[in-house]
Amino acid sequence: MATDLRLPANKIVRPDKDRFLHEENPFEAMMSRFDRAAELLDLEPGIYKVLRHPEKQITVSIPVQLDNGDVEVFTGHRVIYNTSRGPAKGGIRFDTAVTLEEVKALAAWMTWKCAVVNLPFGGSKGGVLCDPFKLSVSELERLTRRYTAGIIQTLGPDSDVPAPDVNTNERVMAWVMDTYSMHVGHTVTGVVTGKPVEMGGSLGRREATGRGCMLSTREALQHLGMPVAGTTAAIQGFGNVGSVAARLLGFEGVRIIAIGDRSCAIHNSNGVDIERAIEHVRKHRSLEGFDGGDLITNEELLALDVDVLLPAAMENVITSRNAAKVRARIIVEGANGPTTAAADSILEEKGIFVVPDILANAGGVTVSYFEWVQDRAGYFWSEDVVNDRLREIMTKGFRDVIDLSRQHKVNMRTAAYMLAISRVATVHRLRGIYA
Ligand code: NAD
Repeated sequence: MATDLRLPANKIVRPDKDRFLHEENPFEAMMSRFDRAAELLDLEPGIYKVLRHPEKQITVSIPVQLDNGDVEVFTGHRVIYNTSRGPAKGGIRFDTAVTLEEVKALAAWMTWKCAVVNLPFGGSKGGVLCDPFKLSVSELERLTRRYTAGIIQTLGPDSDVPAPDVNTNERVMAWVMDTYSMHVGHTVTGVVTGKPVEMGGSLGRREATGRGCMLSTREALQHLGMPVAGTTAAIQGFGNVGSVAARLLGFEGVRIIAIGDRSCAIHNSNGVDIERAIEHVRKHRSLEGFDGGDLITNEELLALDVDVLLPAAMENVITSRNAAKVRARIIVEGANGPTTAAADSILEEKGIFVVPDILANAGGVTVSYFEWVQDRAGYFWSEDVVNDRLREIMTKGFRDVIDLSRQHKVNMRTAAYMLAISRVATVHRLRGIYA
């Protein structure tokens, strides 16, 4: 780790605070952290301006013939935030809450996340404003293919590589890959990650984000001199990230005393039986009706007296309204943006150690990177190799951030942003501005 990331002479950036309209706007949440790190880095104004703007924003109208013969037109976005370090990398979400602002924020987050763990990628994100639960499988397929056709100019293993995100999955990635391949005239597996293993996906990808959360938790406990076995944890969100993290933390001897999802939360001070809970969700699609503990609310889960709180559901769950009630010693952000910028200072005053999202949940994009590498090489790794290399990268990322946080006497989030921004800024300086 270089000792000082600050530039020797240039002016300190003066962030335009007037732009921050309200706490829960994700782009503002991201930008306020970006500004703080940019100030501490003495980032020169030119690069500051470049990094505050996405490279490209595409909005497409997506006509889809519904099963009943009607035609509906959906709106989709793809934002390429930054490609200075390599091809853009970022998921596609199908959701009723998709906005261009949200997609922009998520694309910027991907840029910083890839840089924190030093992957040779930039950041992007895509989203289609729709309610996927109201569409049939064939409608979803037509929507996916037409959206892919709409943004096809940006896609490609060397330019922009999507992955699954909220309400998209392996099957959706298979359609994106097929549509792209049909357009270019040959099979291109490396155009998406998070594909089925049978068609170029990577072993270990499905578990990678939860595994990364487990590794981050282990590092954080070790850093604070706390034993791993016997610590307690509460996990909000019991989908891909939350359930895998719960299982793997359980293997490490952590007692998971609460889990929660959209339907309810369950508390059991002796430890929730995670395998039973996973089986329940597999059968019933939610925790509703699970009898492995007492029912509590999601707000109560966030305020439990535990060693580790792992929000792994959605954005903006720890805000200025409830941050003071959090009693955990460590927060490991499995979700993207679970803590608002206004809550950061409250958590810091309380001495809570936060492993920020751009580090804690980077396991997913790390194994996506492995998938892209394997596709390009046409040579596939065993799951053990994937998991070992994931551990190396997550551990190194965690230690780089810790070093920087000590050096600059800042918290983990600010240090993670400083590390990411300095890496992206360095490449901009080296490449210069094309004109
Ligand atoms: P998922 O859809 O598999 O699971 C989401 C879980 O959150 C579900 O259990 C759902 O019931 C719960 N949830 C939704 N709304 C809730 C609410 N209001 N209160 C409590 N629980 C609620 O999604 P996932 O893939 O596990 O992703 C979870 C988070 O992790 C998201 O923020 C996502 O962006 C982030 N993330 C995921 C990955 C990945 O590889 N899957 C990678 C990085 C970050």
